[in-house]
Amino acid sequence: MSSETGTGTGTESVRGRGVGTAVVVGAGVGGLATAIGLRRAGWEVTVLERRTSPDRYGTAFGIHPTAQAALDRLGLGDALRARAVPYRDARIRRPDGTVLAALPLERIERKAGRPELLISRPYLIDALLAELDRLGGVRIEYGHRLTDAAALAAGPDCLVVGADGINSVVRTAYFGHRSGPRPIGTVAWIGIAGFETGLHGETWGDGRFFGMTPVEPGRTNWYATVPEATTAREVRAAFADWHDPVPRVLAETDPATWIRYEMRHLHPALPTFVADGRVALVGDAAHAMTPNLGQGTCTALLDAEALTRAVAATGTAGGPAGLPGALRAYDTERRRSAQRVAFGSRNLHRFATACRPALRDALVGLLPG
Ligand SMILES: Cc1cc2nc3c(=O)[nH]c(=O)nc-3n(C[C@H](O)[C@H](O)[C@H](O)COP(=O)(O)OP(=O)(O)OC[C@H]3O[C@@H](n4cnc5c(N)ncnc54)[C@H](O)[C@@H]3O)c2cc1C
Repeated sequence: MSSETGTGTGTESVRGRGVGTAVVVGAGVGGLATAIGLRRAGWEVTVLERRTSPDRYGTAFGIHPTAQAALDRLGLGDALRARAVPYRDARIRRPDGTVLAALPLERIERKAGRPELLISRPYLIDALLAELDRLGGVRIEYGHRLTDAAALAAGPDCLVVGADGINSVVRTAYFGHRSGPRPIGTVAWIGIAGFETGLHGETWGDGRFFGMTPVEPGRTNWYATVPEATTAREVRAAFADWHDPVPRVLAETDPATWIRYEMRHLHPALPTFVADGRVALVGDAAHAMTPNLGQGTCTALLDAEALTRAVAATGTAGGPAGLPGALRAYDTERRRSAQRVAFGSRNLHRFATACRPALRDALVGLLPG
């Protein structure tokens, strides 16, 4: 199935300028945001997506102020704010409910002048698709699972963007097998409870943790890690004696709606996000990270915006000829920064799930709010 976007009013401004052609592999957050930025810069864009239809699956994303600014620059800030909720007043607790520290949300808000936001994944995907539709002229080929990424850049002028997630075939084709997904030995469970808990933040136990955030009125987004649990019954048992409302959230959320995934990150970090002067990786394909800092989607959005801004800066005259320089600029702007976040997220995971929590809890208690 394929869909051609573009019934809307913004179409005329970009259609037909044909600065260059681009193929984006993957219609997740990173791929769709990249398609929007490229289309705005006048590129002819095709998106290949292995799923047979737009996916409306998943729970929620935290959107840091820097990623909100990237969405503003992509023209999506209003769509984000229409459905996102602010994330404030969150604490780190012990399983008995004792507060250890505040999550640094106030500090983030003070510094950025706007709060961290939470948004449901299906809504963000829909907002990206709606913007593509408004812009027009982007072809999304659903049900197209790319297997031969090397064939994509056969045309000399084609920009190829690997936005195909942690198992990226674009990465393997252009960057080899040196870096790949590495399991960290922990299973994560995520879900949405059909009520507001009124209490947000993370609870850190012995090798386990549980988090709750707002997501939209009347619902609570939650996530849990339990190394030893493989069934919903075991997850519930692992948190049965934790403070309220943790057991209640698990008891009152239908396990059929829970999402279970093995936590992995990309290891070792890539030496570059670009290849051959016309291939670039964004999002999880470039730097998949553990979810502990809640930055997977933020970094994908920042990548997409930085890449497409660099490409746009080559101007209509630059087009494909300007690509090698634009890709170098993208790599310089994003690689170290994204890899630092990935490293920090991995370390936070180790810290939060420490099996001897006494020292950890003492250290956390010293953190500023
Ligand atoms: C269905 C789904 C649900 C998710 N739910 C959550 C959630 O609830 N909470 C959370 O924190 N994170 C979730 N994530 C992860 C989160 O979306 C990403 O970590 C982050 O947004 C970075 O996005 P990305 O676009 O780089 O990668 P991804 O979101 O992984 O998107 C990659 C896209 O590429 C497609 N693709 C992969 N291989 C190929 C191929 N060979 N050919 C064509 N297409 C291909 C995939 O189908 C996918 O649509 C989810 C990811 C997916 C795919």
